[in-house]
Amino acid sequence: MKVSKYHNFKEGIAMKSLLIINGTIISGNGNEPLQNGAILVENNIIKDIGPRNSIKPPENCQIIDVDGSFILPGFIDTHIHLMSNGFRMEDTMYNPLALHFYHALENMKLTLEAGVTSVRDAGLADIGVKMAAEQGLFPSPRMQISVMPLSISGGHFDFNLNSGFDMKISYPGYPESICDGPDEVRKRSREVLRAGADVLKVMVTGGVMSANDRPEFIQFTVDELKVVVEEAQFRGGMKVMAHAHGAGGIKNAVKAGIYSIEHGTYADKEACQMMAQAGTYLVPTFVVINLNRKKALAGELPEYSRKGAIEIAKVHKENMQMAYELGVNIVAGTDCGVVEHGLNLLELTYLCDMGMEPMEAIQAATKKAAECLGWQNKVGTLEKGKLADIVVVKKDPLDDISSLTDKENILMVIKDGKIYKNTL
Ligand SMILES: [Zn+2]
Repeated sequence: MKVSKYHNFKEGIAMKSLLIINGTIISGNGNEPLQNGAILVENNIIKDIGPRNSIKPPENCQIIDVDGSFILPGFIDTHIHLMSNGFRMEDTMYNPLALHFYHALENMKLTLEAGVTSVRDAGLADIGVKMAAEQGLFPSPRMQISVMPLSISGGHFDFNLNSGFDMKISYPGYPESICDGPDEVRKRSREVLRAGADVLKVMVTGGVMSANDRPEFIQFTVDELKVVVEEAQFRGGMKVMAHAHGAGGIKNAVKAGIYSIEHGTYADKEACQMMAQAGTYLVPTFVVINLNRKKALAGELPEYSRKGAIEIAKVHKENMQMAYELGVNIVAGTDCGVVEHGLNLLELTYLCDMGMEPMEAIQAATKKAAECLGWQNKVGTLEKGKLADIVVVKKDPLDDISSLTDKENILMVIKDGKIYKNTL
């Protein structure tokens, strides 16, 4: 028998079912935690969940006693870049193509071991990466990919420098990003869909880390954005996510029917009200905003982005608080990849700093995040019939949300019924 570091039902280790006992279940549905709960997993599905004495283990069932630990749904990061390590433009110049992929293996492992079992990749993971992950060639979270974000000429994903150098990453099968005018936008949207995107991403404002623009600049017209939304709709209601810092870009995106706003830094009251009314998701990415500020203060960011990174952190927090108070759907996403991988659950601490209760923050990274991805029927809560994505932690996250950031506190990670981490 093939020996695997990771316990793998497919590889023939006898048990097809797994009973997790003696834990407090925080299901993601927001209800009271269930003490002395149990979860029965068969193959990759949650077969039963409830009080320990209500569930009878089938024959040949592997029983895992979690000894009073806490059992949660696998967490979801709605904004990550699995292929990126710091997002430095010079990496494109110096790093051989294959190196990006080998780094990505480590990134996926770190993400999974942090307790994140599903992600939405916000740019640069391609169909080959997703196929390899789905074929189980290495440990990875389940993923939705956007492949290549769309950008205007001179926009956040245009890497043509004033020197004339183009710093974009390019290889066969990778679609182009730059498009101007509804016709080009339509063509690029179709090309990105052809390349295997599950979600379309569009840069509707400038960015902190870009060389040619500023975060508050509007990019794309509402008419251009409507084309992207329409092309996504043609694919069975696929969703569109928008990188947006400035209020003007956020409003354009909401008007065009875009499903989620990423960052949202300069959201004003009107933008927040529009998002709340339309039910648009907001992904504040506190992790990247706050960690970039720290890096900028330490002189670790490139000159062109240092000042912006420091300036936006404060206004970002205030505006996210306003969005939260005005009832915007806020979900957890980090932009890990622009900053270190594996820090995903730090976002929950920041969400609580913003005003959420720990239970709300947990839901923002489980149930609500699943809704943002359109995966609410298969992941996001611990419920009968859902995929067996389960995380066991030592400390009560309702008591100390920051404990989720401690890797040693994450005792067990199960994705699709398979155990990827077990330090119980
Ligand atoms: Zn991003």
